[in-house]
Amino acid sequence: MFVEVVLPIPLADTYTYSIPPEMEKSVAPGIMVLVEFGKNKHYSGIIAYIHPIDPESRFEIKPIIAIESNQPVLRRPQIRFWEWLSHYYLCKLGEVYKAVLPSGFRTESSTNYKQKKETFVRFTEKYNDNNRLCEAFDLVKRAIKQEKLLLSYIECSKISGFEKKKEIKELSKKELLSKSGSNDTILNSLVEKGIFETYEKEISRLETYTHEIQPLNKLNPLQQEAYTGIVQSFREKDVCLLHGVTSAGKTEIYTHLIAETLKLNRQTLILLPEIALTAQITGRLKRFFGNKLGVYHSKVSDNERVEIWNNLLNDESYRIILGVRSSIFLPFRDLGLIIVDEEHEPSYKQQDPAPRYHARNAAIVLATMHSAKVVLGSATPSIESYFNAQTGKYGYVELNKRFEDTELPLITPVNVKELRRKKRMKSLFSPLLIEKMQEALENGEQILLFQNRRGFAPMISCKICDWTPKCRFCDVSLTYHKRYNQLTCHYCGSTYPIPSECPECGNKELKPQGFGTEKVEEEILQLFPETKVDRMDADTTKNKKSFEEIITRFEQGKTQILIGTQMISKGLDFEKVSLVGILNADSLMSFPDFRAYERAYQLMSQVSGRAGRRKKQGEVVLQTSHPEHPIIQTVLDHNYTGMYQTQIEERQLFHYPPFYRLININLKHKNEDLLKKMASEYANLLRNALGDRVMGPDKPPVSRIQSFHIQKILLKIEISASLNILHKILEDVRSRMLANSQYKYAIIQYDVDPV
Ligand SMILES: [Zn+2]
Ligand SMILES: [Zn+2]
Repeated sequence: MFVEVVLPIPLADTYTYSIPPEMEKSVAPGIMVLVEFGKNKHYSGIIAYIHPIDPESRFEIKPIIAIESNQPVLRRPQIRFWEWLSHYYLCKLGEVYKAVLPSGFRTESSTNYKQKKETFVRFTEKYNDNNRLCEAFDLVKRAIKQEKLLLSYIECSKISGFEKKKEIKELSKKELLSKSGSNDTILNSLVEKGIFETYEKEISRLETYTHEIQPLNKLNPLQQEAYTGIVQSFREKDVCLLHGVTSAGKTEIYTHLIAETLKLNRQTLILLPEIALTAQITGRLKRFFGNKLGVYHSKVSDNERVEIWNNLLNDESYRIILGVRSSIFLPFRDLGLIIVDEEHEPSYKQQDPAPRYHARNAAIVLATMHSAKVVLGSATPSIESYFNAQTGKYGYVELNKRFEDTELPLITPVNVKELRRKKRMKSLFSPLLIEKMQEALENGEQILLFQNRRGFAPMISCKICDWTPKCRFCDVSLTYHKRYNQLTCHYCGSTYPIPSECPECGNKELKPQGFGTEKVEEEILQLFPETKVDRMDADTTKNKKSFEEIITRFEQGKTQILIGTQMISKGLDFEKVSLVGILNADSLMSFPDFRAYERAYQLMSQVSGRAGRRKKQGEVVLQTSHPEHPIIQTVLDHNYTGMYQTQIEERQLFHYPPFYRLININLKHKNEDLLKKMASEYANLLRNALGDRVMGPDKPPVSRIQSFHIQKILLKIEISASLNILHKILEDVRSRMLANSQYKYAIIQYDVDPV
């Protein structure tokens, strides 16, 4: 017998090994094994399957070195899911393995999972007998402190003999010492006298919920109708799009669906696009589901991730997992329901490294493997999902009234071009926005200000010759961060000092161009020096705590104004926000991408939706140089279908999703000339097979990252086309290109369904 093992190497999908006789009984799919690869390189791999045929290999087949897990670390459908991912997203199983399994499981990593241990205290065998307690007290008769500690122990552990065995509590040393007001020395005396002994015990890092579980909130009639609609649509369809305006109470509907799934003893996965959102929703769900809920995302430590993984493999006390996109990889036994909240969010797409999967789309495939149902929730659905609902592939349920009948916010456009000409702008703010801010602050209400750029200014430039500093490794202008007094590349993270003069013309006046959140914060503090202001962007939220702290401060009213990038647009609920300012709508519409208008609409509607709660209509001031632009008009009218109609027509006309499948082939090389030559040969070979479905090669907007030049070839493939045939063509061309020795240092990456 031989095994096929998945290794974290992107060469082949699996590698063949033989089974030493003494391990025959232990091998099974999902078991981790240690193997040798190449010369003296050792890897932890996962057995994908076992087969009896001697493979026709030219290579010597090595034996497995050791079995690393005494039970499978994967459940049955997982390997199948991995295979789908690697097939659809054009990568190797090893890349999936690397992305999926917490590194704590793997031997080659230095951060192997360590069990967390704590010291506990108990009676020695001799004194673990109620009849001998008197003897113990005799021993400490003259030592008051020791006697006190002994009494505390008996009290806290409930060991006195009246309680049932079940109720006796294990006491950690830490707890005992703190409850008895004692210390190490006193405890040690009791250990020396042979009364107590200490022992180590593995404990969990995961938080436990200790409050009382509450019953679910009753649904209001509209929510009830939507709930029934979803349940009915599930009789015929596996996926249902819940199109609910912001603050219509989608989460309430989710909780009822989860409760039903629990009754069937099946699991639920709730996907969120952003870690920032998990804290708020975790709090809400814990109230109803307590310790049945587990939370999984990249800011959970690797050790905690292993514990969650093991929990799902073993005792399964988690019935509901809430997490970001990587949670789709957890070892679920029997998923009954997957909820993808804010399904339109582009952060569901993994960019780098491979597998470049879309968690929403992958979740739908995963659901099929479990015979589970999927709810996609959004106030501004993606064009693709809305299309699938319109054409009957998905069920569709609308929830178009806000909770307690609050009206949708009133959005007022302000023409900043005009105001600038009349010199009426006060730096970044229009008179209307300033007036509304003053009003809101006087009423004790809160304000959100949205600017989709972080840093102080997107760039600085020379006042005379327009020179702008660029990253040495990437083809992008550097962002100016005033607080650190430096320039940063947002692509590779390199930082640079501010040049004292222009290297082109020697001029000493370099001035900031445009503005980011840091600049907004500075200006706001000048306008409203008495007001507490916070900022939420990638710079201020580098760790999990800071996210939660900013949100909590705002929720508790400790800050009045929150300035942020798209992070503040994603489904956060704040009760006292009455005003939202969109500072620069134009920057949202100018991305060179076919999704630019869809994204601009979604961002503006979502951030506007944060305004107004509890029977008070919110207000939005939208600053733009193009108030007449059709996308701005659809935002003002809350006209999602209007936006959808114009976009779906363009998509069809210009061969974009959902009518065509896009695949980007990114070619990278440090030598620009060689790369250009390769890209054009590559595109020609593809054209021979695929004709005018091949676009490019082109230089992408950012054409150099971390010293690698980039060329892009775009494929537009009919949705009905066979993926197997396509993949054969792609792999054929790829191997022909890589066989050419002059291109051997080139990097070739596929991005299927890019966003
Ligand atoms: Zn200059
Ligand atoms: Zn850079």
